[in-house]
Amino acid sequence: MTPSPVWHPFTQHGLGEAIPTVTSAEGALLQCADGTVLIDGISSWWVTTHGHCHQRIIAAITEQAQKLDQVMFAGYTHEPAETVARGLIEIAPPGLAHVFFSDSGSTSVEVALKMALGYWHNRKEPRHRILVLEHSYHGDTIGAMSVGERGVYNRPYNPLLFDVETIPFPRDGHEQATLDALERACRVSEMPAAFIVEPLILGAGGMLIYSADILRQMREICAAHNVLFIADEVMTGWGRTGTLFACEQAAISPDIMCLSKGLTGGAMPLAVTLANEAIFQAHYSKDRADLFYHSSSYTANPIACAAAAANLDIWRDEDVLGGIARLSNNMAEHMARLAGFPCFENSRQIGAIAAIDMKTHDAGYLSNLSPRLRTFFLERGILLRPLGNTIYVMPPYSIGDDALAKIFGAIAEAGELLTA
Ligand SMILES: *Cc1c(COP(=O)(O)O)cnc(C)c1O
Repeated sequence: MTPSPVWHPFTQHGLGEAIPTVTSAEGALLQCADGTVLIDGISSWWVTTHGHCHQRIIAAITEQAQKLDQVMFAGYTHEPAETVARGLIEIAPPGLAHVFFSDSGSTSVEVALKMALGYWHNRKEPRHRILVLEHSYHGDTIGAMSVGERGVYNRPYNPLLFDVETIPFPRDGHEQATLDALERACRVSEMPAAFIVEPLILGAGGMLIYSADILRQMREICAAHNVLFIADEVMTGWGRTGTLFACEQAAISPDIMCLSKGLTGGAMPLAVTLANEAIFQAHYSKDRADLFYHSSSYTANPIACAAAAANLDIWRDEDVLGGIARLSNNMAEHMARLAGFPCFENSRQIGAIAAIDMKTHDAGYLSNLSPRLRTFFLERGILLRPLGNTIYVMPPYSIGDDALAKIFGAIAEAGELLTA
């Protein structure tokens, strides 16, 4: 057969690594064309919350696809989008009052940044500085990369990324330095437009956890200085950290909030950017020039919205958080065992996300440790994708005890074999 013309994301085709063909999925299991079954240990890159092919979500998609596939959303609306928007406002942190649809986490971040800049522009107090947290990840489009950590993955584009001011990550014991730096950045004469953060845990930056108390204090500093606070809950939303949204643990409401990944339970691409009344009002007038200039062709696609509406129903009707709490306890028991291994350090967990670092002098994103580990797990029927030397587990909530034990067993085995 001729080589596939498909160019995969974050894939070095020159390394000739195996690319399994997946034919079907159920719960936490992926069926491959060659007959193998893989355990999805990272929820297919953090999107699959309840489990693959959840019946209620698939039924909603099927039903909607036969009624209305797509309609332009500028000047038109449809029931699935209205249902999702109302449902989101009911469960989102108080104050978030308006829902702007888009189609990926990166886009929801672009929209958030444009809303923040548009807010200041329309108020005739233009501000253009964005504050970001060190080690952040907000997506792979130019704006989202600009507010994220700079590194090998965005080096070719670096000269084109816009300047931001980076606040140090609140490392254990150094939290005050973070708060002081934020306070200073908010006080300078060229006032920042917004501060964007991943609440409680930085995902792609290495599963770095910080406390709800620091999150709350960061939010308070921004409020005190009239700097917009953007919470990127693309990864943390939908129960990942043990609460529906991570912001709840700090009892805060951001001015703008980004959601995607688990919004449809992981079945369809969809994203939303939620905004408070003031941000909406800054764009509300009789003057066309003030409107929010953003759209994508598939904004609020009805089939994706139907999947999101079904996801909201599941959250309403079922004890999802109870399931997450049980899973989280289960993961904690496995993690306690790993923490005893001399080859591992920095064991950490929040909700249904657990991470541990392999002691190595060979760290860094370019090291070959991560692809070696990936292959090691794949050979054992497990989909894991370590970040450098950080191995993390983020399973669908419906994963069975046996499958979970298999994942942690393989991590222990990796620790023994690969520490050299
Ligand atoms: C994954 C992620 C994004 C980007 O989402 P995409 O759908 O991949 O564009 C943005 N922010 C955070 C925190 C993420 O984890």
